[in-house]
Amino acid sequence: MHDENDINGDWGPATLAVRAGHRRTAEQEHSEPIFPTSSFVYDSAAEAARKFGGDEPGNIYSRFTNPTVQTFERRLAALEGGERCVATASGMSAILATALALLTAGDEIVASRSLFGSTVSLFDKYLSKLGITTRYVELSNLDDWAAALTPKTRLMFAETPSNPLAEVVDIAALSKLARHHGAWLAIDNCFLTPALQRPLALGADLVIHSATKYLDGQGRAVGGAVVGADALLEEVHGVVRTCGPCMSPFNAWIFTKGLETLGLRMRAHCANAMALAQWLDEHPAVERVHYCGLLQHPQHALACRQQDDFGAVLGLVVKGGREAAWSVIDATRLLSITGNLGDAKTTITHPATTTHGRLSEQQKAAAGIEEGLIRLAVGLEDLVDIRRDLARGLDALPASG
Ligand SMILES: *Cc1c(COP(=O)(O)O)cnc(C)c1O
Repeated sequence: MHDENDINGDWGPATLAVRAGHRRTAEQEHSEPIFPTSSFVYDSAAEAARKFGGDEPGNIYSRFTNPTVQTFERRLAALEGGERCVATASGMSAILATALALLTAGDEIVASRSLFGSTVSLFDKYLSKLGITTRYVELSNLDDWAAALTPKTRLMFAETPSNPLAEVVDIAALSKLARHHGAWLAIDNCFLTPALQRPLALGADLVIHSATKYLDGQGRAVGGAVVGADALLEEVHGVVRTCGPCMSPFNAWIFTKGLETLGLRMRAHCANAMALAQWLDEHPAVERVHYCGLLQHPQHALACRQQDDFGAVLGLVVKGGREAAWSVIDATRLLSITGNLGDAKTTITHPATTTHGRLSEQQKAAAGIEEGLIRLAVGLEDLVDIRRDLARGLDALPASG
């Protein structure tokens, strides 16, 4: 049978990325269509009653389900190896919907300290209002995780590799710990994407995405997703359906087409990042490079085992602190000075005064956010051009002389 409904987990990842999830309409369209409609109609009052009553599957209203959004959900679920995916309006609403679906007052989250800033704000400022408290641990220290778990811990939450120091945690070990304690493990897989890391296969219960980053990969739209087993995702979908942080069909179409080139793009991102990390590591003005692809990285062996490649976000520490870091950033003519990442365009930022600027000096020190630290999210430009753009500032530093 020649029917794309057949495309499922038995096919290779590149095939799934290009074809999974599209259910052709009667028009026999080749490319995935957009359904920009808020609601759907019925042939009869009886059909409407059956659909509203849940006795018959089908679309009712685009806050509940939309065919374009479902195409994206099926495709991402296939790539992550999950039973079901629920798309959301943003990465943050994916995390919010997960927390609202799974947690209740009195529950505790144990999370890695090196999380995306807004995730920490969500946990500390808003979930705390609902009586959900969060303890933070050092990402790569399994003893630290184990010590923080209590009978009230319901959710463990981590990003690996971390931003911007590229620390890595053993997902299989964390998931064992979670299972033993009756907690769920959620992994924010933004930095590697299913093209390079599949946390569900390593035992995680949920994968979280900011589709805004590499899934789109071209900086066009904001969106998010949660992937995992049907029973958990049914709860997440309930939150999205009722509370409303649903993905728009236009954005879902962008992300669906983004997934088609995800594997190719990630390979190219990683190749540029690896070459750049090695070059920076040799540069006399650079004190240290944080990249899990480098041999001296403390979790390099784990990264080799757990990941297909090392990602494209790296940190470099220049000699001379903030002044030196800012001068390197300001000397660029090509790279984009912005806190965003996961884009074809290389971005450069100074974490201590931007993405991590609200941390106290003590918190910065604990998180390794030094004044000389620069974060690069390496894009798809020609490597020689990225290197030349960075060399302009680096070569001018006194430490190079
Ligand atoms: C950007 C990001 C988020 C939040 O996603 P939005 O789409 O901006 O809401 C969450 N986690 C990580 C790791 C991110 O980089």
